Amino acid sequence: MKLIFLGPPGAGKGTYATYAAKEYGIVHVSTGDLLRAEVKKETELGKEIGEIIQKGNLVPDRMITDLLKKRFEEPDCKKGYILDGFPRNIPQVHILKDDNIEFEHVINFTATKETIIKRLSGRRTCKKCGAIYHIINIPPKKEGVCDKCGGELYQREDQKEEVVKHRLEVYEEQTKPLIEHFRKEGSLIDIDADKKAEEVWEELKKLLDQLYK
Ligand code: ADP
Ligand code: AMP
Repeated sequence: MKLIFLGPPGAGKGTYATYAAKEYGIVHVSTGDLLRAEVKKETELGKEIGEIIQKGNLVPDRMITDLLKKRFEEPDCKKGYILDGFPRNIPQVHILKDDNIEFEHVINFTATKETIIKRLSGRRTCKKCGAIYHIINIPPKKEGVCDKCGGELYQREDQKEEVVKHRLEVYEEQTKPLIEHFRKEGSLIDIDADKKAEEVWEELKKLLDQLYK
């Protein structure tokens, strides 16, 4: 199973990629997570990346491909993967093709702007394992603490209102055109992500079970 998850920030890509990775025994490859891991290392490169992410801009394509290349060299990727957050612009679609990164389907998660903003403002992420929660919609059992590993939950730097606004503009300008690209190619499948999390997950599972039975 090799999939690409597409959609605006806050649609739920990371959430459902985590569920699907567990359900189907595949790997969740999030370029956002790879970048945040680099920022945590506090290297010169990490500092550079951190500044770009905090502004809500896209990190240069070359940095993304270097990180992805390293990740794909790890043996667990052979089991199958979900690419979450890549490709994010048309040049990255060319990289996908030129580097022969395989995928069978592109799942496009759709959600209204209003939903996205509500979701992003309530998102909490585990500092230790990266698990994603929402203070109202998908809360942890104990406030501020990760159910999975006991790590501390935090609000991502790029969730501030003005940064979210900019990230949505970047999505509209640079990432949205990918929908038509993959639709024309015949690999795109839409999922309505505006519903409750359990419903979206059920729909996704039904779809993947049909595609890979
Ligand atoms: P993305 O990876 O697309 O940016 P996330 O997976 O981080 O999105 O989800 C954004 C926020 O929305 C998180 O706080 C998550 O818990 C919450 N969320 C995801 N799906 C739903 C849903 N269907 N209903 C309500 N909240 C959701
Ligand atoms: P995400 O975790 O997918 O919400 O991504 C968080 C941030 O990481 C984005 O706003 C970008 O700054 C950066 N990022 C993630 N994936 C990419 C990518 N494929 N290309 C460029 N920047 C990216």
